[in-house]
Amino acid sequence: MTRAFLGLGSNLGDREETLREAVATLGSTVRRVSGVYETEPVGGPAQGPYLNLVVELDTDLEPRQLLGLCQRLEAAAGRVRAERWGPRTLDVDILWIDGVESDAADLTVPHPRMWERAFVLAPLAELAPELVPPGWEDGATGRVHRVGVL
Ligand code: ATP
Ligand code: CA
Ligand code: CA
Repeated sequence: MTRAFLGLGSNLGDREETLREAVATLGSTVRRVSGVYETEPVGGPAQGPYLNLVVELDTDLEPRQLLGLCQRLEAAAGRVRAERWGPRTLDVDILWIDGVESDAADLTVPHPRMWERAFVLAPLAELAPELVPPGWEDGATGRVHRVGVL
């Protein structure tokens, strides 16, 4: 079993329910779930605020199988791909997999933009502070506000 962290975000539809269903579908592989953060959009067009969280998994899937699972969760939430960084019902990114480094375009791990995003680093810092760079609160982009738990 391998420890992995996924970053989930939603800013269309019933955001909380979408996150809840995705975490439920991940089922018994979920070890821990961070708090839920309301966050301002970073990049892309003008759009509404996100709810974001991070989940820690214990998984026996290979990295590309895990990516496939993330994409199935997005499809199940009715995600439609339009413009880059546009609004979406659900985004599931692989942030980190213990012992895995990949720079393939379809699967870059650790996620290359996670280190500058407060909406990733704040929930990740709850679960794995050792992975989060010191001083991230000052260096990261975007305001976040913890609003509770799922
Ligand atoms: P960002 O990657 O900046 O967070 P995004 O999540 O909006 O942007 P998507 O449209 O969801 O981008 O994904 C585009 C592609 O990114 C996917 O087709 C996927 O293959 C690829 N990708 C590369 N690395 C990862 C990763 N670590 N997790 C998820 N997808 C990844
Ligand atoms: Ca993303
Ligand atoms: Ca994504």
